[in-house]
Amino acid sequence: MELYNTLGQKKQEFVPYEPGKVRMYTCGPTVYHYAHIGNLRTYIMEDVLEKYLRFSGYDVKRVMNITDVGHLSSDADTGEDKMLAGAKREHKTVLEIAKFYTDAFFADCAKLNIKTPDVVEPATNCIDDFINMVSVLLEKGYAYQAGGNVYFDTSKLDSYYVFGNQTEEDLAIGVRDSVEEDENKRNKADFVLWFTKSKFEDQELKWHSPWGYGYPGWHIECSAISIKHLGEHLDIHCGGIDNAFPHHTNEIAQSEAFLGHKWCNYWFHVLHLNDARGKMSKSKGDFLTVSLLEQKGYNPLVYRMFCLQSHYRKPLTFSYDSLDNTAKAYDKLIKKIATLDNDAEVDKEQAQLYIDKFKEAMDNDLNTSLGLTAVYDVLKANINGATKRYVLSEYDKVLSLDLLSGEKQQNTESSTADAEIDALIEKRTQARKNKDWATADAIRDQLKALHIVVEDTPNGIKWRYEN
Ligand code: AMP
Ligand code: ZN
Repeated sequence: MELYNTLGQKKQEFVPYEPGKVRMYTCGPTVYHYAHIGNLRTYIMEDVLEKYLRFSGYDVKRVMNITDVGHLSSDADTGEDKMLAGAKREHKTVLEIAKFYTDAFFADCAKLNIKTPDVVEPATNCIDDFINMVSVLLEKGYAYQAGGNVYFDTSKLDSYYVFGNQTEEDLAIGVRDSVEEDENKRNKADFVLWFTKSKFEDQELKWHSPWGYGYPGWHIECSAISIKHLGEHLDIHCGGIDNAFPHHTNEIAQSEAFLGHKWCNYWFHVLHLNDARGKMSKSKGDFLTVSLLEQKGYNPLVYRMFCLQSHYRKPLTFSYDSLDNTAKAYDKLIKKIATLDNDAEVDKEQAQLYIDKFKEAMDNDLNTSLGLTAVYDVLKANINGATKRYVLSEYDKVLSLDLLSGEKQQNTESSTADAEIDALIEKRTQARKNKDWATADAIRDQLKALHIVVEDTPNGIKWRYEN
């Protein structure tokens, strides 16, 4: 499989560190608000990547953190903690906010058929691991204490801007934009590993450390959690493109300084979802959520399909018009699949040809839009219905669009109908017991109109459709 690697900025053949195994890490949500559909674009595409790797036969272990401490409103280590801001906004404690929005995040993921990673680790569970990592970085001379905080010293690295698309000037602009410059830093790019001198005194969650009572920086959590669960060699690290700098750049700096060797081989970044006003962002406040789409009558899987229609490395613009088009296409697709015959044998040889076509699309840097085209090609193909169903169910292990749900729906519709008939018969039995002949006769006529024959049997009342 070829994947675009931000490290090196080109498509590369994916070769895991250990044959057959993939260790995959995902930056999880900062749980101070609902995830917006932009965040979820990233998680949908990462989910497709994970599932496709499994589909290709890899044994995948995927880990995700939950950022419940340390994420400041500015990546330049200044501003208020996002979690604390969320707690103030809702008059709750930080832990209450974290619990509420973590649950909300996974509820959204479930609606979008996003699988929960094998390990989900809140940052506040791993304070000892962060302290250990910071201690080693200090011992090795990669970190220094200043003004009560511990900083990573970027001047100790051979190369800091590893993704190649950032320069000192870019960073300088970032620093100028921020309200205050941190005078404790020896170099502009240095970043905080452990805070004690908070700019805001009311930080709710603090822990004892060798450097004082405080809390971890945001970047350290992903390095420490990844190394804790996935070891010293990571195959793929995922996230939205905004995380490439400074978050991932800093993760690489501190992880490699800590380990003493290269850490992660492939960096998978999903481009942003924008709306008419630009990048969708949590801090802007009014943003689109899965619940909002549901309230407007959209099946969340329509949004999943909307994401799959575009390549993850292209920015995607959201509009209701385009979502409406996807909704129509989705509806038509599910209905079409539900009409496929299922009375023949699956032709495994033919099926393999179509599975190979799908793999060809997905092996090419996860080309999901061609993956969807493969779905339509199967429907048009000159193969029997059972084979089509089989191939589509294989594709759906990766696409997770519930492609065969039309049939399920029909079954549920008929079981609802069955339950209604059972209820009518029960009502008629009760009416007869109560000698309420008018009701009993009315129900008998109703059942007759539905072509239902009711029979008294030793095992109770049974009914069947009249032939
Ligand atoms: P956060 O909860 O802010 O930490 O972000 C969670 C994930 O969503 C990260 O991987 C971000 O890079 C990603 N993300 C943030 N905004 C967007 C967006 N507009 N489109 C796609 N991904 C995004
Ligand atoms: Zn991260």
